[in-house]
Amino acid sequence: MPPQLPVPYSQNPLAQPQQTDNSSKQSNQNLVVFLRGVTWIRDSHGLFDYESKSITKKSCKTIVESKIVRLENEIELVPQNRNVSELGANAQDLLQIRKEQTGYYLDHAEKADMLEEDSVDRLWLVVRSLKSPEGKEDYLIKKFDVIKLGRVKFRIKDFQCEKMGQTPEELYQQELKEAKPVITLEDNQTGDESQKGSCRFCWGSDSTPENPCIVPCRCAGTVGFIHFECLKNWLNTKMNKKESEHLVSMYWKTFECEICKQAYPYLFKVGRKVYKLIDIQQPKNSGYFMVMESLPLEKNTSRTIHILGFSSQKEQFNMGRGHDSEVRVNDISVSRCHAIIKYKPEGFYIEDNKSKFGTLVLLKESYPLNLEYTSAVQVGRTVVSFTVRNTSVDKQYQQNGLVADNPLHNVQKFGGNIPQQLFQVQKMGSSSNVGNLRQERYHQREEEEDMDIDS
Ligand SMILES: [Zn+2]
Ligand SMILES: [Zn+2]
Repeated sequence: MPPQLPVPYSQNPLAQPQQTDNSSKQSNQNLVVFLRGVTWIRDSHGLFDYESKSITKKSCKTIVESKIVRLENEIELVPQNRNVSELGANAQDLLQIRKEQTGYYLDHAEKADMLEEDSVDRLWLVVRSLKSPEGKEDYLIKKFDVIKLGRVKFRIKDFQCEKMGQTPEELYQQELKEAKPVITLEDNQTGDESQKGSCRFCWGSDSTPENPCIVPCRCAGTVGFIHFECLKNWLNTKMNKKESEHLVSMYWKTFECEICKQAYPYLFKVGRKVYKLIDIQQPKNSGYFMVMESLPLEKNTSRTIHILGFSSQKEQFNMGRGHDSEVRVNDISVSRCHAIIKYKPEGFYIEDNKSKFGTLVLLKESYPLNLEYTSAVQVGRTVVSFTVRNTSVDKQYQQNGLVADNPLHNVQKFGGNIPQQLFQVQKMGSSSNVGNLRQERYHQREEEEDMDIDS
């Protein structure tokens, strides 16, 4: 049976407000969220080890708005209005379950707004957890998604596929939003010609819409000006490029101003015109492509951009630490063959290849819990899986709203198979090199057992 095409959550009809008649409203009352929290005992870079047995597990269910809190090594489901600090000094607010007319949603914990945009303590969707009523699903990648393999983050910069979900206008608006606003020589009208400034590369003081003279960094005063084209050419000379039939990789040791050391943005804008500092060169023989940036682990301005070229002869790429991985990710937290990126006419999908530390996608918006779908989120070293079931609610829930852990009860009543599959080794998918992968997996496991990512 061919794999079922996943429905992106934003387009999933189950997530949309559509229930208007009374009968469906009635059934909405019977929706129960079943969840299972698993926490890794170790605390290492906010990772969760999907192969470790040093974990705690706890299952709960709820029909009301709730918070999920981690107390030491176990999760606790508490009512939304409960003050987390009452639970103890070590209580950590992980996420919240909100309930709306249209169903249940997951959201970041309230204080997560204070964290960095891609902090490990935000909500990350666990790619291997996605399951529709028809079976396992891959994740459909969206532009500007942040994807994490182990502790290595990637950002999707751009892509082109057969059926783009967005119109050119929508794409432009998205770029406009991402682009950094800069000032130009025209903005610097002092009246005094000697103070006006000029390009610090070519000394020219012209500025046109095609080649504006801008301040792209923190440098103040007239020293900050540089032509768009002069900057682009200079960055081009600093670039190292590796090119193969299907893949172009570009690397900069630093992508920053040499004076103030601020990283340059790829995209900037003057008014409503967007400029790109890097020209994307599509790999040979490819019809469609995806551009991904590998974000540096340390706080530096090194930049790596991979351009993956897809065609009918090349429909998927392996990512991992192994020498035979097409997109190599050289970090101990990344498995040898960690994830697979697949092309389909409607977009690019990512599949986790039973990796040790998982493949995650940063959730930037509320995440709907669709009826009979299973999905899991990771917050630091805790993974929580969710399944929404339509079931008649017994009196106990109605009285308490929340029901504490009772695994046996769950198993009997709900078949017990809810998110457990996350933590079991399953049969590999139908990728072409399954045999090799399986063999490699075996060796890899032996090797990674003793791996210490902190050392
Ligand atoms: Zn210049
Ligand atoms: Zn500067």
